[in-house]
Amino acid sequence: MLKDNLRKVEETIAESCRKAGRDPKEVTLVAVSKTKPMEAIRELYDAGHRDFGENYVQELREKAEALPEDIRWHMIGHLQRNKVKYIAGYVYMIHSVDSLALAETINKEAAKHGRVIPILIEVNVAGEDTKFGVSPDEAADLAEKIRQLPNVSVQGFMTSAPLVDDPEEDRVYFRKLAHLSVDSSLKNNDNSKVSVLSMGMSNDYPVAIEEGATIVRVGTSIFGHRDYTNHG
Ligand SMILES: *Cc1c(COP(=O)(O)O)cnc(C)c1O
Repeated sequence: MLKDNLRKVEETIAESCRKAGRDPKEVTLVAVSKTKPMEAIRELYDAGHRDFGENYVQELREKAEALPEDIRWHMIGHLQRNKVKYIAGYVYMIHSVDSLALAETINKEAAKHGRVIPILIEVNVAGEDTKFGVSPDEAADLAEKIRQLPNVSVQGFMTSAPLVDDPEEDRVYFRKLAHLSVDSSLKNNDNSKVSVLSMGMSNDYPVAIEEGATIVRVGTSIFGHRDYTNHG
């Protein structure tokens, strides 16, 4: 059943790509598995899926230790500096970097594991009080500073658009993040252009793809609604 949901989301992604004249291979689907049990992840793993997103450090770590090593774990939730050490050895990409201090901690912990951790700058495009992330004005400057850190690789930007009834209302925010990405003269450590755009969730990922998303983070449409009873 989860597998059917996954295939449906994949089909919708392909359809949105066709509509936008894009190659579906440009878009990575991160299945957001926060609060969901190992068996659910295992089911999708067995169906061939490898990219999963988690919001909580402890949960990411427990799942990474128990599940196959070739899963790519995306940390998409707010990350406290003192918790980076618990995931530095497991995480594939951190989407939620919103300060130089956090990036410096990631850099330090990545070095201990002899690795370079790919990260995204989280941008609060709509300027919502309730959301983490830097303002669009600060994003390019922060990215440039983080770029100096040897064990962190800035790959692009991430945003969570406001929760709206009509996903069309979020189009303007996705477009803004895409422009930010094009405008910033950002280069990676290897001098390649920064190009990852992590945007779009269950309610609005088709619109995000039309506006250039290269990663969509979809939870509810794959796993169903979440029960937060045992989570912070
Ligand atoms: C939970 C979460 C998602 C997935 O949201 P759905 O609406 O369930 O698809 C995506 N991104 C972030 C940052 C999240 O916290």
